[in-house]
Amino acid sequence: MSMKEFNRNYRLGLSKNHLKYPAKDNFPLYTTHQNPVAKFLTVEMYERLFDKVTPNGVTLDKCIQPSVDYTGKICGLVAGDEESYETFKELFDAVIDEKHLGFGPNDKQPAPELEPENLTGGQLDAKYVKSCRVRTGRNVRGLCLPPAISRVERREVERILTESMAGLGGEFEGTYYPLSKMTPDEEKQLIEDHFLFQKPTGQLMVNSGSVRDWPDGRGIWHNKAKNFLVWVNEEDHCRLISMEQGGDMKATFARLCNAINEVARQMKEKGREFMHSDRLGYITTCPTNIGTGIRCSVHIQLHKLSKDPRFDEIVLALKLQKRGTAGEHTDAVDDVYDLSNSARLKKNEREFVQQLIDGVTKIIEMEKALEEGKSIDDLVAAIK
Ligand code: ADP
Ligand code: MG
Repeated sequence: MSMKEFNRNYRLGLSKNHLKYPAKDNFPLYTTHQNPVAKFLTVEMYERLFDKVTPNGVTLDKCIQPSVDYTGKICGLVAGDEESYETFKELFDAVIDEKHLGFGPNDKQPAPELEPENLTGGQLDAKYVKSCRVRTGRNVRGLCLPPAISRVERREVERILTESMAGLGGEFEGTYYPLSKMTPDEEKQLIEDHFLFQKPTGQLMVNSGSVRDWPDGRGIWHNKAKNFLVWVNEEDHCRLISMEQGGDMKATFARLCNAINEVARQMKEKGREFMHSDRLGYITTCPTNIGTGIRCSVHIQLHKLSKDPRFDEIVLALKLQKRGTAGEHTDAVDDVYDLSNSARLKKNEREFVQQLIDGVTKIIEMEKALEEGKSIDDLVAAIK
């Protein structure tokens, strides 16, 4: 049996039983569920899609499982492979339109722009900006995504990526640390440097089965300077991260652009490429990350503005998102916030980084005004 057949059988084995019964009798019990799948998936749509199977053997039920097992606010939908977006288009398009605040079936993501030279500004005041980080997600074409991946395929993803990264030279020369073989000292160092990823506990990841077989096939790669990192087999096949202390967002983005291009080139030599669609941009496990997958963030200390009652609305008006010091679902420590672009789709990579630079520049202006005891009413009015 070929690996492709093995994987297809592996996935179909999980779901073929329900095909013996009428689709409508298998419809999930949605009650107080607050996710967009529960909102858009009707019995009729379910009947149209339930017996469809992607070339890799992914079914609709595989993709919607998180929407069934958690009633709170999550996206609820995951892709089991690149083709899930096509095979179950009717549902994916509805969820994408909702989560990206308007993206119709005829809308198209602009072409990628990993071009730092086209940025304006980008040296942010290091008195406020403690560190810069830009990350994106990528997946290897032809292999299933974490919700549907088999152990052998996951190890194959790890092999392809680590072999590609081993080919990197110059400032990108680095080492891969598989989670399963990490020494206590290595683990301690990576935690201290805020580089280590933990086993995901989010409802989407857990209920989609994406954390099966942990830590098999998972690991972290980083260069010597530890300013370019790659997470392997977490939520996507890889997350590529560029980060550094201080306020130089342009240099942070430039490093990410160079590194991605270089990794893609190494992969191409091995006959591999990243999943990408002309319409949706880069393909990711969670439909909320499609497009650029770019989250460009600063750690910024705002003693004054963070205490202003308008802080949240200012962040929102600048199309930014606020997180705590240790990332999503954490609180700010010593008034240090993680501010990043809130969208991933409908603009290219360079435009999202520009949006962050422009927004943070305005926020710093407000913080300075408040420090001098001035009113920020005019500055706030100007961004609305
Ligand atoms: P993502 O989903 O983009 O990886 P998370 O919110 O899950 O982001 O955070 C991942 C880790 O990255 C956390 O430890 C967080 O503190 C760190 N981080 C995010 N932005 C920055 C930044 N600008 N500087 C330093 N660390 C950061
Ligand atoms: Mg995260």
